[in-house]
Amino acid sequence: MKRKLKIVFILITLSLAGIIVFQLYWTSNAYSVNKKIFDGKVIVAMQLAMDRCKKDYFDSIRTVLVKRLSDPSSVITIDTASKGNTSNNKINPALNINFSFHGSINSNPFQTDAHTYNYYRANINHKATVPEVLTEMSFYVPTLMMELTTFLGVDDAMHPPPELSAFIKTHPGVPSNKWPLPKEGIYALPPNYKQADSLKLSRYFALELQKMNIDAPFILSLSNKGQTPQDFNFHYSETNENVYQYHGFIFLLTHYTRQDEFTLFAKATIHNPQYAVIKGMMITLVLSALLVLFTIYCFYYIIRTINQQKALGELKDDFINNMTHELKTPIATITVAIEGMQKFNALNDPEKTQRYLQTSRNELAKLNELVSKVLDVAAFECDKITLLKEKIQVDALMNELITDEKAKAGKTISIAYNNRDRVDDIVADKLHFGNAILNVLDNAVKYSNEPVDIKIDVYRDGHMIVFSISDKGIGIPATHQGRIFEKFHRVPTGNVHNVKGTGLGLSYVKYIAEAHGGHVTVKSEVNAGSQFIISIPM
Ligand code: ADP
Repeated sequence: MKRKLKIVFILITLSLAGIIVFQLYWTSNAYSVNKKIFDGKVIVAMQLAMDRCKKDYFDSIRTVLVKRLSDPSSVITIDTASKGNTSNNKINPALNINFSFHGSINSNPFQTDAHTYNYYRANINHKATVPEVLTEMSFYVPTLMMELTTFLGVDDAMHPPPELSAFIKTHPGVPSNKWPLPKEGIYALPPNYKQADSLKLSRYFALELQKMNIDAPFILSLSNKGQTPQDFNFHYSETNENVYQYHGFIFLLTHYTRQDEFTLFAKATIHNPQYAVIKGMMITLVLSALLVLFTIYCFYYIIRTINQQKALGELKDDFINNMTHELKTPIATITVAIEGMQKFNALNDPEKTQRYLQTSRNELAKLNELVSKVLDVAAFECDKITLLKEKIQVDALMNELITDEKAKAGKTISIAYNNRDRVDDIVADKLHFGNAILNVLDNAVKYSNEPVDIKIDVYRDGHMIVFSISDKGIGIPATHQGRIFEKFHRVPTGNVHNVKGTGLGLSYVKYIAEAHGGHVTVKSEVNAGSQFIISIPM
């Protein structure tokens, strides 16, 4: 049995370890997959944030171009019948577009046709003005965009800001990409452009992350040096009424030698991304932890039940052994007594007959007691005991029990009875309550060496009447004190004290005490003695 149990235990431990290892494996796998998804989402969020910034940025260019083209100092003429236009297609006439700004006129008119022009005009919802149509078109026709930039940029290019002119004069050899950034004019950057850009991108990025249910703190860094566009090809900018010029023209001047200075790169650094990933996996993690805990509990429960069954099996074996002894002894004694009467002609000797009969009677009484005990337990096991409660004189009952005990003890015993609070009577079932007290007295005698010294105290404790029975016997080890009230439980004594018993007495005592609305407790010390305290309500 022990070996089998060991094997079961090892198998269960192995399968538990297996389950835990697999759970860990799957969890770590799930973590890496989720981390990859997380990384992907962050990149997408950054791309979307950039796109939003870019859209704002195009809008700002649109505003700049429309504003500049609508300026009174700029004149746009669209000519369909211009000289040199060889097309005579009447359905789709060719168009020549001329710009003049502050009196300067572009040398080559921009050429397109009426279909294209009308197509872009139709792209705009409201009734579009010429500057609006040209602006819209410039986003799709790079040559027109170039034309417009050159044309609109004439202003600053012809009249560089004074500080730039001064710089060029004083630093003749310095290449244009090392010139200081203009502080005003169409090429000027707003002084806080990086901060403004980072704030905007940061806001959009946070919004995109939020949409993806990612709640992680991040730092956004912007740079326009030392990083290659392949790494960070996110070209974006801020749009804000005050700084739109800068945006408009950074975009337009992609061919400009100083474009590095105007091209910003963004980098988002997420703090402890693993926490954000784990947070996202929380439900799965908690469920799998609960599952593992539940499995551990189930296995623990199985092992505990097996152990309990094993212990119960052993107790039952002990019980059968003891019962066999207990039953056999009186039967053997009675058999010997009857044989003695038959074989040795004892019937003619009335005194001998009387002795044999008395012995047989005593043994039968013992047998009866034993059978009643077992039957009592069987009865309370099926809840078949119904208490017949009545008023009982405490002193009378106790004296009767003490006399009975002394009569059957077979040992030298002294019992000191003290009704401390002069309790007159109790309401109890005389037979069962008496049997319970008698069981405790029997034990006190059984588990004490001669001369047996027993003390019985009866007193009131609150609304309870207490019956305390103490002996100076062998005592009960602390580890067993909690279990002696269980059925069949006996303190293993090895072969030292060969005291017979069924292990049923105290479970019966407990049942009866509780059936009366009370309880029983024990205080004991090995080799010093035991005290059983039965309390029932008044
Ligand atoms: P049993 O028939 O074995 O006496 P009980 O249920 O009456 O069964 O008692 C359970 C066990 O408690 C006993 O086997 C004994 O080991 C221990 N026990 C009970 N009363 C005493 C006592 N007064 N002193 C020492 N041990 C006791």
